[in-house]
Amino acid sequence: MTTAQAAAHRTAAKHQPRRIAVFGGSFDPIHAGHLGVARAADRRFNFDEIHFIPASRPPHKLKQHLAPFPHRFAMVALACTEHPHFVPSLAEAGEDFSGTQLHYSVDTVRYFRHAYHGQGDRIFFIVGADAFLDIPMWKEYETLLGLCDFVIANRPGIRLEALRLVIPPDLHARPNAKRGKEVEQIAHGSPIVAQLEKSTIYLLENVSSDVSATDIRRKASRGQSIHGLVSSRVEEYILKQGLYR
Ligand code: ATP
Repeated sequence: MTTAQAAAHRTAAKHQPRRIAVFGGSFDPIHAGHLGVARAADRRFNFDEIHFIPASRPPHKLKQHLAPFPHRFAMVALACTEHPHFVPSLAEAGEDFSGTQLHYSVDTVRYFRHAYHGQGDRIFFIVGADAFLDIPMWKEYETLLGLCDFVIANRPGIRLEALRLVIPPDLHARPNAKRGKEVEQIAHGSPIVAQLEKSTIYLLENVSSDVSATDIRRKASRGQSIHGLVSSRVEEYILKQGLYR
């Protein structure tokens, strides 16, 4: 065995499987609802890292005016300082970091799978239940559903059955006792929406709040307080930059 092979062997032997979560959104701005979901998911699934990915131009919000990418990224970066596992991500910033190119979740997840490809590494996609219901509109969604596990943050009024219905029946796995046990250990009691051939879709209950970015922008535009709705650093940033006035 050469020295390089021995070193590679040692590295492979030492590899600790990582649990990496990706949480995308327009984050215009990132708010207490997003952070509450991420904290609860972290407690339940024990992630090594949660990557917050401000979307370039979310395909479903092409017509909506968004604050420029650098502002949305800056707010995400400020909010991420409050938790050791939270990582601000430039995955959808594009080559020139302008965030003006269109990005699709399926490609972003492929990028993370490439970046975290050690044995046993798993990628989890955190998404709100309202957004998950729209998933059939997303690019290559059937492929996406098999590329990583999903953690759906439930929202008021959305039933488990409704979430199940958006998953094509032929993607469901045949029963497999061994895998079922492994999935239960990861879930720590979280309900399972669906067990697919290569991935699992978990539900995170009682985590959503009624905070929305739309409401925060509206309040800021009227000069009303947004205290407590966003983290204090983000509040300060919005005020100093005069965002959403
Ligand atoms: P907007 O009001 O501008 O539509 P938003 O508040 O819904 O924005 P997004 O950045 O579009 O925020 O959301 C990113 C993700 O976070 C989505 O999957 C969404 O379902 C989820 N999410 C947003 N707000 C909450 C909340 N209060 N509780 C749980 N999940 C949320």
